Amino acid sequence: MSAIEDRPFSAEVLLSDGTTALIRPLGPADHDAVHALHAVRMSEASRRQRFFGASRLAPRMAADRLCGPPRPGLLALGAWVDGALVGEADCESVDGRCDTAELALAVADDWQHHGVGTLLVEHLVHVARERGVRELAADTLAGNRAVQQLFSDLGLPVHRHLEHGEITVRVPIDEDDEHYREAVDERGRTADIASLTALLRPGSVAVVGASRRPGSVGRAVLAKIREGGFTGDLWAVNPHAEEIAGEAAFPAIAALPGVPDLAVLAVPAAAVPGAAEECGRAGVRALLVLTSGLAPDEARDLVDSCRRHSMRLVGPNSLGIAQTDPAVQLDAEFGGAFPLPGTAGVAVQSGGVGIALLARLAWLGIGASSFVSLGDKYDVSGNDLLRWWEGDGHTDLALLHLESFGNPRAFSRTARRVTRRFPVLTVDAGRSAAGRRGAASHTAAAATPTVTREALFRQAGITATRSIAELVETAALLHAQPLPAPRGSVVVVSNAGGIGILAADACADAGLLLPELPADLAAALRAVLPAGANAGNPVDTTAAADPAAIQACTDLLARHPAVDALLICLVPTALAGGAAHEALWALREGPARRRVPLAVVQADQQVPVCHVSCVGGGMLPSYADPAAAARALAHARDRAAWLAEPVAVPAAAPRADTATARQLVDDFLRSRPGGGWLDPGRTADLLACYGLPMTVSYWARDEDEVLHAARTLCTQGHDGRIALKAYWPDQVHKSRAGAVRTGLAGEAEIRAAYRGFAERYGRRMDGAVLQPMAAPGLELLAGVVQDQVFGPLVVLGLGGTAADVLDDRSARLAPLTEHDLTTMVSELRSAPLLTGAAGGPPLDVAAVRRTLAGLSRMASDLPQLAEADLNPLIARPDGLLGVDARIRLEPRHAIDPHLRRLRRPATTEEH
Ligand code: ADP
Ligand code: MG
Repeated sequence: MSAIEDRPFSAEVLLSDGTTALIRPLGPADHDAVHALHAVRMSEASRRQRFFGASRLAPRMAADRLCGPPRPGLLALGAWVDGALVGEADCESVDGRCDTAELALAVADDWQHHGVGTLLVEHLVHVARERGVRELAADTLAGNRAVQQLFSDLGLPVHRHLEHGEITVRVPIDEDDEHYREAVDERGRTADIASLTALLRPGSVAVVGASRRPGSVGRAVLAKIREGGFTGDLWAVNPHAEEIAGEAAFPAIAALPGVPDLAVLAVPAAAVPGAAEECGRAGVRALLVLTSGLAPDEARDLVDSCRRHSMRLVGPNSLGIAQTDPAVQLDAEFGGAFPLPGTAGVAVQSGGVGIALLARLAWLGIGASSFVSLGDKYDVSGNDLLRWWEGDGHTDLALLHLESFGNPRAFSRTARRVTRRFPVLTVDAGRSAAGRRGAASHTAAAATPTVTREALFRQAGITATRSIAELVETAALLHAQPLPAPRGSVVVVSNAGGIGILAADACADAGLLLPELPADLAAALRAVLPAGANAGNPVDTTAAADPAAIQACTDLLARHPAVDALLICLVPTALAGGAAHEALWALREGPARRRVPLAVVQADQQVPVCHVSCVGGGMLPSYADPAAAARALAHARDRAAWLAEPVAVPAAAPRADTATARQLVDDFLRSRPGGGWLDPGRTADLLACYGLPMTVSYWARDEDEVLHAARTLCTQGHDGRIALKAYWPDQVHKSRAGAVRTGLAGEAEIRAAYRGFAERYGRRMDGAVLQPMAAPGLELLAGVVQDQVFGPLVVLGLGGTAADVLDDRSARLAPLTEHDLTTMVSELRSAPLLTGAAGGPPLDVAAVRRTLAGLSRMASDLPQLAEADLNPLIARPDGLLGVDARIRLEPRHAIDPHLRRLRRPATTEEH
C-alpha cells in the first residue's frame, strides 16, 4: 500500500484536449497496470529516458516499488483514462529526510503532449505539500526535452544542475506561489475551453427522446434547432419512429450516420443513465440533459458515464442552451422565442429566469452571444462559462443567475480576472435565507450566507443586483454608455422641478454624489437656459426650455471636469408641446460629448427600460423610474471604482509561527478527535503564533490560585484592578450568564467574587480567568469563520455589548488584500470613531489591519480552525488589546480549492 492510502485522494481532471482522466493513488491492485504502462505502453526510448538505461527488469521493479509492500516515504499517483493507466508520478523522501522527495514520472507514449504529466505533478505537489515535503528533486537525462519543458512550464521556481549529461532539477514547493497558481489556472482554462467546444460550438447534434407527440420537450427542441438554422448535422434518435417533425429518426445513437458532438437527452429520468452511457460509448463529447427528477443513483450513473467517456454535461433539469454565432446558430432550448444574437453571455440556474432575461435582452437590442440553462449543475457551472466567454471573441457582458456555488474560490478567481475585461452581473438570489441562528460566536453569527456571498461578489468585482429588473436596467446602462469616473459625481437635469428632485433623492439613496455646481458652470448654464431656470443640482431648465437649450445645457455639463455622469429627466409638457421628445432627439444627435455616461428618464415611458438608438450610432438607456436610473448609475460607479483599484495586492503577511500553531492544533485534535473550543491557555498560545493582540490572562483552578494570580498581576505593575471570569468548557456568552466581574480591587473583593461564582456555578465551573483591567477604548470585534465551501470569512465590527444592537460589520473572504483591509475599516458605520473623523483622537487602525491580516493568515494556515472570535478588542490611540477570545477547532483536511479537478455534486459522489 502506498503511503497516502490512509487518506484517499482522487480527482477527476481535464487533460489539455478536454479528455477526462482520473487521478488517484496507486495501490497493490494496480501492479499489473503499472507494469503494463512501463513495459507495453512506453517505447524502448521512453523507458531509457525514464530509467536511464534499458534494463528488461525495470518495469517490474517500478511496479514492485509503487505497488508492493508499503514504503512510508512514498507517494504515488496514477492517471487513468477510461479505466486504463496512462501515466504515473511518484515521489519518495530521500535519506530519511522528509522535506525533500525524489520525483519520477512516466507517461504512456500515445498520451504524451496531453498534459498528463503536468496534471500528475500538480496533484503530487498538492499531496506532497500536505505531507510536509518542501522540495521535489528529479534526476533527468539532459536529452529528455519533454520533462525539461514540463518543469519549465510548471510555474514553480526550478533550479537546475548539470553533471555528466544528467540534469538534477530541484523544485521548491513550500511557498503558496501566485505565479504557480496563475500557470495552473491558465492550463485549466485551456482544457476547459477544449472540453466545452463540443457543447457550445458543436458540428453535429442528436436529440435523443424526441417523440412524435406534439408538445413533447424533445420534439420542441428538435424543431427549434432546425428552425433556428443550425449549421451542422441534426439527427433524431427514437426507436419507435422513422421521422419526427420532418427530421429522419434513427433507432439508436450507434445507428446514426456520424458521431454527434452534442447529444440532447429528453428521455424519462430512468432512461437517462442508459442513454448517457450509449452516447459515451459512441464517442459523443457533450450532453445536454433536459430531463429532471433523477433519483440519486441515476444521477450518479449519469455523471459516472460522463467522466468515463470524457463528456461535459449541462443539466439535468436544464431548459437548454443556445449559441447565436452565425457559424453555429444552435438554439437547443425550449423557451419561447429564439434568442436574439448579441454580445451578452447568459447563464442561469433556473430556466424561468433564463426566459425572462433573454426576452428582456432582446427587447433592449443587446441579445445573447450564448445562453446556458445550467439546471441542477452536475458538471458545467458558472465558472466554466465565465472562462468560455472570456475568450470567445463575441461576449462583452456576462449575466449570471446562480443559486449555489460549486467551488466559490475558483469562481472568484476567474471572476476577478473576467470583471477586469467586461462587466459580470448577477442577481443576488436567496437574500432572505435565515442567518445562522444560535451561532455560538458573534463572528459566526455575522457570517450569514448573504454576507458571505456579498463578500465574494465584492472581492471579485461582480455587479450584484437585487432583482432581475435591476439586472436588466443596469445591463442597459453598462452596455450602452461609458463608465463614469470612480468618484461618481452626478448632475441631474430636468425640465420639471419635481421629477428632478425625485431623481436627486434617488441618486442620494443609491449612494451617488450630487455636487454643487461650480460657479463658472452655473453661470454658463444660466446663459443658455430660459429665465427662471435653476442652475443648481438638480438643474431645473423649466418647462419653457426648448430642445436646443436642453442640448446646450447637457453639452456644457458633459464637458465640465466636475461632472462624472448625467441623469436627464424629461417630461412632455403642454407648454413646450413635444419639447421633451425633441430634446431627446437633440441629445441623440448632439455633437461629440466628453465620454460621461448619460441616462435618461422619460416620465411618460410605458416600459421600465429601453434603448433609444442615437442617430450617430450608439444608444441611450431610457428609464421610466428615476430610482432605476440612479441604481444603474451607482453600479456603473462601483464598477469604475473596481477597475481603478490596483490589481489585488495580498495583505502584507504578518509574522507567524505556523509550525507551533500546527503542532498545537494537532495536539488538541489528538486529545479531542471530534474538535471543540480551546481552553483559555491554548487560545492565548494560538493567538500569539499570529501576533494577535490579547491581554495577559491567568487561569486559576481554585481560590488560592486566584489570589496568587491576582498578586502576580499586581506585582507586574498593573494598576491592581482586575477582571475575573468564571470558566467552563463550551461556555457561550459569559457576561449574559453573570460570569464576568470587572474592576475588582483588593483581595477581599476578588475572593468574594470568586466565591460568588463557585456558589452559583458549582461543579460546572472549571476555574476562573484573571486579567488586568484594560484601559477603556472603542470595543471592536474581529474574527474569522470557515465556510466549508467558501473558505474563511474574516469579520470586523463594533464589539462588546453594543455589537448585537448596532450590527455594524464588514466581512471579506480570506486571503485578504491590502484593499480589503482598507475597505473593511472604511465601510463600517463606526469608521469615523476609528479614524478620528468623529472628533476624538484617531485610534490604532494599523493594529486593526494587522489583526485582520493575522486572522486571515491563521485561517489559511489552519484548515481545522472552524471559528475564532476576538470580542472585544479594545481600540485606543496607542494600541489594540483583546480581552476575550474564543477559538473552535474541527477535524478536517484542506483540499486546495485551486487544484484542477472537476466538481462532483454531493448527490453524485462516486461509487
Ligand atoms: P463575554 O463576551 O463572554 O460576555 P467578555 O470577557 O467579553 O465576556 O466580557 C464582557 C465585557 O466585559 C467586555 O465586552 C468588556 O466590556 C468587559 N471586560 C471583560 N474583560 C475586561 C478586561 N480585562 N478589561 C476591561 N474590560 C473587560
Ligand atoms: Mg466577549
